[in-house]
Amino acid sequence: MLRKSMLVILALFIVIEWGPLSDERAKYGIAKGNPFIKEVVITFDDGPRETGMQELDAILSSYDVKATFFLVGKFAERFSNITLMLHRQGYELANHTYTHPRLYQDHTAHIVRQAERCDEVLERLGIRKTRFLRPPGGHFNMEIFNAMRRMNLPLGLWSLNTADYTGRPAEEIYNLVIGSARNGDIILMHSGMPNTVEALPRVIEGLKRRGFTIIRLEDMWNSGNT
Ligand SMILES: [Zn+2]
Repeated sequence: MLRKSMLVILALFIVIEWGPLSDERAKYGIAKGNPFIKEVVITFDDGPRETGMQELDAILSSYDVKATFFLVGKFAERFSNITLMLHRQGYELANHTYTHPRLYQDHTAHIVRQAERCDEVLERLGIRKTRFLRPPGGHFNMEIFNAMRRMNLPLGLWSLNTADYTGRPAEEIYNLVIGSARNGDIILMHSGMPNTVEALPRVIEGLKRRGFTIIRLEDMWNSGNT
């Protein structure tokens, strides 16, 4: 079982990293963009949270950065006013399941249901169906592939993990991103983390200083498929 899932991970890695950008990637998902274009994506997982979201929006808006938020359906429901605010402000909203379970331990039908329930919350708020699913923790296996293929919902993974969920200081988050960001990186951060909010203005300024344009995941996906 372990060997099987490791092979699947290896296969996906090869497909995404080195395979032809068109058909294969369209089937499975995206973990990184074009290595020859100075573009990155900033993603925030696990929102919306009760606190820290207005601050995030204020910073992103002041730099005119359109980030991508992977929302947990039950939070999107509970804090629907914040969900609507994110939508109104033009951020890309993506699917991070309904209850944030360990998806890799689930059966295909349950995985599909988790993704559907998240989308249903957004649809009830008048927000269109999401384009990407990020499995909690980034863990995936064949069951998840099958579910995503069935739903035509590609995996939206990441390539640069800030590990801001550990509560590391803002300075460390900044140093990590600015020190290691490369073309096509998809940067993983989390909603509602005070240290992330503190680091964000310098992170954005540093990325811009290094010549990166910050785009939405959907734009990175689309440009990779043209
Ligand atoms: Zn998560």
